[in-house]
Amino acid sequence: MMSSENDSEMDCSDSDCGDTGYEDYYSIQPWGGGDVDNDVDPEQNRRDPEYAVYDCLRVEEVERLLNESVEVLSNSLHVTPSLAKVLLHAHNWASQDIVTKYRTNASSLLISSKIKPTPEQVPGTKSQRGGVCLVCITVYPADRFSTLTCGHSFCKDCWCMHFEVQITQGISTGISCMAQDCDVLAPEDFVLSLLTKPNMRDRYQQFAFRDYVKSHPQLRFCPGPNCQIVLRSKEQRAKRVMCSSCKTVFCFRCGMDYHAPTDCGTIRKWLTKCADDSETANYISAHTKDCPKCHICIEKNGGCNHMQCYNCKHDFCWMCLGDWKAHGSEYYECSRYKENPNIAHESVHAQAREALKKYLHYYERWENHSKSLKLEEQTLEGIKMRINNKVMNASGTWIDWQHLFEAASLLARCRYTLQYTYPYAYYMESGPRKELFEYQQAQLEAEIENLSWKIERAETTDRGDLENQMDIAEKRRVTLLKDFLEV
Ligand SMILES: [Zn+2]
Ligand SMILES: [Zn+2]
Ligand SMILES: [Zn+2]
Ligand SMILES: [Zn+2]
Ligand SMILES: [Zn+2]
Ligand SMILES: [Zn+2]
Repeated sequence: MMSSENDSEMDCSDSDCGDTGYEDYYSIQPWGGGDVDNDVDPEQNRRDPEYAVYDCLRVEEVERLLNESVEVLSNSLHVTPSLAKVLLHAHNWASQDIVTKYRTNASSLLISSKIKPTPEQVPGTKSQRGGVCLVCITVYPADRFSTLTCGHSFCKDCWCMHFEVQITQGISTGISCMAQDCDVLAPEDFVLSLLTKPNMRDRYQQFAFRDYVKSHPQLRFCPGPNCQIVLRSKEQRAKRVMCSSCKTVFCFRCGMDYHAPTDCGTIRKWLTKCADDSETANYISAHTKDCPKCHICIEKNGGCNHMQCYNCKHDFCWMCLGDWKAHGSEYYECSRYKENPNIAHESVHAQAREALKKYLHYYERWENHSKSLKLEEQTLEGIKMRINNKVMNASGTWIDWQHLFEAASLLARCRYTLQYTYPYAYYMESGPRKELFEYQQAQLEAEIENLSWKIERAETTDRGDLENQMDIAEKRRVTLLKDFLEV
């Protein structure tokens, strides 16, 4: 089952949707929903900077896939499948590397000291004739002993106990020999031949499966709650993927919330910083501000930053409280942080203050977009209710209002990308590239606020005007991603 995304292909035309009910029009997810064929429009796919090729696999399909690799390696190296599995796990499933290493050094398969291909006879062990198990100090006949590939031999009960203790701690592929100072790993068939309790065998196999998937660079568990799906992709860079089962959208490379244009390492750094500085940042999470002209208290209850005072009708910006007239797309400056050019000559205290000011500038905008996304969801709920009433009163059908939901999805997508431009800009070095980035960011900001303003007044906005605005905003978003997603 192949699934990939291509937003333009996700739009369902009127004829496709027919009378499936208005629930279908409720989707306001930034990335839409549903599976799309990979080969619909290759040209379109190449133009989309976020396009990714991936599969959503069920557990059985992943097992089959892993077993195929195991079988191939086991045949070409003439080792047991169980040992092939240990090798693959230890080498992140790079079969070719393992084969090459083995061919150039065929005398030993000691690719790692932890892996031994064939049983050794350690002098002094009495397994063939029976003897004392050095763990439980009990005399047993030979058939009560088992010997790991390192040559260390212990009684079967002790091995079993050792495995159970490890499995209880969540360890499976990492279980090593019981002998002191021996870290040779116990292959799957050795462990399973000694584990007696069925629930322990199950847990061992579940943990091992988890380890195999985690060590495989082309596989990733869906991070959705209680979701069993594993995604497979050959993409090397941060890519947006969506689980076909639970619809969770995430970054394939790191498994976190999708974060373009910021890369995986930078977003981790940013989120850690935000968590560390949460105290400092808390004071800016105000829901009300005073109108800069008449000073009446204004509450922000929509996503749009273009505020209009209900008292004096003054148009101003929620972020900087400046006149909205200075926020047109040609001269939008609100997103850019103006660094003090002489900061290097200032005192240590002044530099610290400046660093905090800079961080808060980016943090405030990052946080504000995240809040706006939620507020716009509420706005849409309100619109939905009013449309529902209209449809009930036979003034139009849901199809007549579908464009509104498309506009809301698109707005959410643009806002989401815009939110993730702030960590990117925060860590960017000053220079022409940052200037270009901030220029494009400002353009996107301005167009998104226009779109948000129009959606909040959707029922009175001209449909053509709204669709035109959607087009401009999405173009700005794609342009920014194309220029700044690392290729
Ligand atoms: Zn023993
Ligand atoms: Zn050993
Ligand atoms: Zn899922
Ligand atoms: Zn990532
Ligand atoms: Zn006012
Ligand atoms: Zn502003």
